[in-house]
Amino acid sequence: MTLDFEKEKLINELEKRKPKKVLVQLAEGIKKNALEIKEWIEALGIEVIFSGETCWGGCDIAVDEAQAVGADLIVHFGHAEFIRTDFPVIYINVKDILNLNSLLEKSLEKLKDYNTIGLSYSIQHRHDIKNIKKFYEDVGKEVVLSKKNGTNAYEGHITGCNYQGLKEIQNDVNCFVIIGNQFHSMGATLAVKKPVILIDVYNNNVRTMEGLRDKILKQRMISIEKLKESKNIGIIIGTACGQKFGSPKKLMEKLKEQGKNVIIITMSELTPDKIMNFYNIDAFIELACPRIAIDDFAKYFKPILTFREALVAVGELSWNEILEEGII
Ligand code: SF4
Repeated sequence: MTLDFEKEKLINELEKRKPKKVLVQLAEGIKKNALEIKEWIEALGIEVIFSGETCWGGCDIAVDEAQAVGADLIVHFGHAEFIRTDFPVIYINVKDILNLNSLLEKSLEKLKDYNTIGLSYSIQHRHDIKNIKKFYEDVGKEVVLSKKNGTNAYEGHITGCNYQGLKEIQNDVNCFVIIGNQFHSMGATLAVKKPVILIDVYNNNVRTMEGLRDKILKQRMISIEKLKESKNIGIIIGTACGQKFGSPKKLMEKLKEQGKNVIIITMSELTPDKIMNFYNIDAFIELACPRIAIDDFAKYFKPILTFREALVAVGELSWNEILEEGII
């Protein structure tokens, strides 16, 4: 696989905006490319500093870091725009250059019973979508792309925490095809009721997400039950600017009414190490990235719930409502 860092776009944007110093954020898988990116930017006479913090999504724009080092612009590589900020940011999506023909051919067997496909992709594959759509249409399938929606930047684009576009078209399609990796397709299978088929471009295979949904739902129910039994609760607020999923105030009131002790904790990134020292807290509710609670279930020795799961635990929402709307 070759990565296209959209060098021309980057240089054009930098020449237009004329920053003096930039802070560069690189998604985790491309931090190894820092040296070549540094050379492109420095060749324009611009000072460059790289953020060493983890960067999992466009939800995490390092405005505070940029201000702390006196940068006047952020260049964010590897994600699309997720939220608006007042601070100037250039988004470089980064394209995965791949020949998808054999995977698309392989997918036809899994799609033989479905005539209408909801097609979605993670941002690195946006440039291929026209061709993928044409491939399926040429073999007689109807292809529907979800509308640009909320934090998703383009038609058909998905992020790990926003599947609203897919939910809106699920009654019009027989199944969904996701171009990308397990992370995005697993989120999709938790969000919609139609079959989800992943074209896993990184592991070079095609697979359905069958079975995974039931396993994860069981884990989520266990966490909800554990929170109900817990006395001391920590509500974790993420400090990344786009990771605001729910109101701590509302939860705190409900939990206190039920006789629980509650503290609010801030974290830039939730990890098992960080929560370990809060040893007398029995369960945590995280209002940062909802995928941490769900995907990292096995990494935490205490239950971690999302906001909506916590609403079920305090009786504000029913489990059936969550299932109906999708757990993400
Ligand atoms: S909140 Fe989580 S899933 Fe959503 S964009 Fe950020 S890292 Fe990805």
